[in-house]
Amino acid sequence: AAQVKGLTKRFGSRVVLDGLDLDIARGEFVALLGRSGSGKSTLLRVLAGLDRDTSGDLRVDGTVAVAFQEPRLVPWKRVLGNVTLGLRVPAPVAAADTALAEVGLTERRDVWPLTLSGGEAQRVSLARALVRDPDLLLLDEPFSALDALTRINVHRLVLDLWERHRPGVLLVTHDVDEALLLADRVLVLDDGRIAHQSEVALPRPRERDHPELVELRSVL
Ligand code: ATP
Ligand code: MG
Repeated sequence: AAQVKGLTKRFGSRVVLDGLDLDIARGEFVALLGRSGSGKSTLLRVLAGLDRDTSGDLRVDGTVAVAFQEPRLVPWKRVLGNVTLGLRVPAPVAAADTALAEVGLTERRDVWPLTLSGGEAQRVSLARALVRDPDLLLLDEPFSALDALTRINVHRLVLDLWERHRPGVLLVTHDVDEALLLADRVLVLDDGRIAHQSEVALPRPRERDHPELVELRSVL
């Protein structure tokens, strides 16, 4: 889904991405870790085509959807309008309603974004990404503002989508457990490059290994 070779991104004299190589195949779920300021969001913006002021080779196939670190909802459109924004599918409203139901926001479809909690706004942003059924899904800490129970549900939701449509996924997270739970491959960004990579050998579905998770889901 995405191929990057020798990608360099500077802000003034500061080199944030320094000859970075990265390959994400369609159907692969990749988690990206790295300390704050290491360039994770910058890399996602470049992959999403939102920052072309870079050098190196970048190839992205198919449609890309992004859920940003800050939800970035359009304040003058209601929740539903934010999800259908620019959406080109046969029945956009029905598709958006399905996505909103999946993130548990059916009741909030007609409210203004400013009246949402942080976690709700983040779920709208996720619904907006998921409804696009992308070939490459870029998720920038999409679960960080969710309460623990919602997070478990949304993990399941993202995995369901991934299992059904097999996009390439690049998930930025600060949570190592979450990375190991969801991803096939875990990368660490440091000094502008992928400083470490490991394949996750655990079989899926991994939540079955956590009796507490199964129990929590049963009460949701
Ligand atoms: P976090 O984990 O805190 O979200 P991050 O890994 O996503 O961090 P980035 O947001 O990619 O980090 O930022 C990487 C570096 O680039 C930081 O030092 C940041 O200050 C700088 N940076 C990002 N965007 C800009 C910009 N538009 N102008 C100047 N510097 C920027
Ligand atoms: Mg970031």
